[in-house]
Amino acid sequence: MIQHVGEAIVLRTWPFQEADLLVSLFTREQGRVKGVARHAMRSRRRFGGALEPMTYVRATYAEKPRQELVRLDAFEILSSPLSRPIDYARTAGLELVAEVLEELPEGAVEDAVFRLALAVLEEMQVGRVWMPVTYFCLWMNRLMGWMPELGHCVVCGLDLRGGPVWYSATSDGVTCADDRRGGSVGLSAASVSEAQRIFKGTVKGLAAEAWPKERGVDLRRFAVETLERHLERRLMSARALGRV
Ligand SMILES: [Zn+2]
Repeated sequence: MIQHVGEAIVLRTWPFQEADLLVSLFTREQGRVKGVARHAMRSRRRFGGALEPMTYVRATYAEKPRQELVRLDAFEILSSPLSRPIDYARTAGLELVAEVLEELPEGAVEDAVFRLALAVLEEMQVGRVWMPVTYFCLWMNRLMGWMPELGHCVVCGLDLRGGPVWYSATSDGVTCADDRRGGSVGLSAASVSEAQRIFKGTVKGLAAEAWPKERGVDLRRFAVETLERHLERRLMSARALGRV
């Protein structure tokens, strides 16, 4: 048996057998890991509020030979979304982050993604939603290698810098207005430059700016749709966030 103690983010839990919970964790050392928290439903003592999705914990768990599920022994809360009052937009935002991380392949170490998730989580912990969510979705596309180049039309090569671009849910890259494909959606010049700023700045640096829901709506949509196209699934929490 191999014992592990390390940082992790709780993504999701499911009832499992009698009083156990199946837990999906995103660990810093081992990427996504699934484990069983024995008696977690009956006794809250060992895990307390630590099984709430998007809780950042120090997890103690044991890996058993030839077994897919690890045994979760104890979680120490490092930061919890429950430390702030429940707010619908923030909850939907946290769910979106969890839903995307849940799509990472099991066992793939993703330290850059882990650091991104933590930085975004920290901003959401102090009550911000729209900027950290936009930041997270854009950066996930970049870290996964799914972010198209926004500076040039993928069809004719036209320099699109400083202007709007068009993207489609079915093909790669962005185009100029003349080459836009059926069902294309526009991304405003302001949002293209916002994206560049997001790639240059830190989530902490951007946190000083006012970021109401209306800011970068098309950019958020672009980032979510690009994720969805590559994940080949709809992100339900993004829909919930859109209804806020
Ligand atoms: Zn073109």
